[in-house]
Amino acid sequence: MQTYQKSTSNGSPQFQSRPPLQRVNRRNPCPECSKFDGCMFADDRTLCIRKPSDKPVCGGLGGWWHYHSFNDPPPKVTIPKPKPVERASVEHVDAVLTTLLRKHLALSERHTAALRARGLSESEIERNGYASAPDAEEGTRIAGELSAFGLGGVPGFYTKGGEWHMRDYGAGFFVPVRDERSRIAGLQLRRDEGEPRYIWFSSNGYPCGTSSGAPIHFARPHLLHDATEVLLTEGALKADVASYFTDAPVIAAAGVHNFGQDFAANLRVKFPNLRTTFIAFDSDFRVKPQVKAALEKLMRELSGAGFRVRVRTWPPEYKGLDDYLLAFSQSNVKGVAA
Ligand SMILES: [Zn+2]
Repeated sequence: MQTYQKSTSNGSPQFQSRPPLQRVNRRNPCPECSKFDGCMFADDRTLCIRKPSDKPVCGGLGGWWHYHSFNDPPPKVTIPKPKPVERASVEHVDAVLTTLLRKHLALSERHTAALRARGLSESEIERNGYASAPDAEEGTRIAGELSAFGLGGVPGFYTKGGEWHMRDYGAGFFVPVRDERSRIAGLQLRRDEGEPRYIWFSSNGYPCGTSSGAPIHFARPHLLHDATEVLLTEGALKADVASYFTDAPVIAAAGVHNFGQDFAANLRVKFPNLRTTFIAFDSDFRVKPQVKAALEKLMRELSGAGFRVRVRTWPPEYKGLDDYLLAFSQSNVKGVAA
């Protein structure tokens, strides 16, 4: 009978499969946190859901690896800043954030009234999917329920003590930021108090957390394929309001700097019928040199991509185009050309 032996260059196996993990129990508590539940262990490693290390686990309950084998790098004394987790797919981020807004959160009366005051109808508010942010405790409960979907790589969520949490920025309402196919790419929180007024729902720098990035928002993107003109502005909510009043597509970045290098070229490729871009930014571009410079750069890139570029202005007593359109819709504005 013939036997086979694995041979390696230095006589020792090059790869050892690791011994299987088993659950901690009363007789075998966790070597890291000494608890009897939740953690897993083997001879060479422990998956502890309570004691942090620099190797977070982003699936299941979360937790952290602690290695005991000599093959692994020596343990570090200080825990470095957690590495950001790779962002989940567009579809997954959209599914989780849509479920968060539609199934787990509601829009308070106060926030509904604030959106109505901007001129949005009840059905438009419902359609756009705004929702009031939960308090910290409620957020943790919701994150626990959503964790069944997998929250690794979804901006705004992170792990702590073996549990998923969502970032808490205080009271306010979420504004969904949608891509050109209406999928939610991120959330901005419009805070009731404090500055900045708008803040991205992001968990960059947190265990198992992910950056929100600064995605571009598309309001009524389904109209873009046939449109020959589009309005560009700043702020997702402002874009929603302007799009509602004009019943036309509006594209918004968080700020003029956030349109990004390839924006104009991508717009050209994705929407070949578009000819003209109207730029409608708050009037501070007239006074702030860096805003003016960024705006001029955007205009050059749009021209370079073959668009006609027009700047849309409105009377200085209205801060933003949305304010102007609201006033115009209420016929409070007289003698102003549209
Ligand atoms: Zn443990």
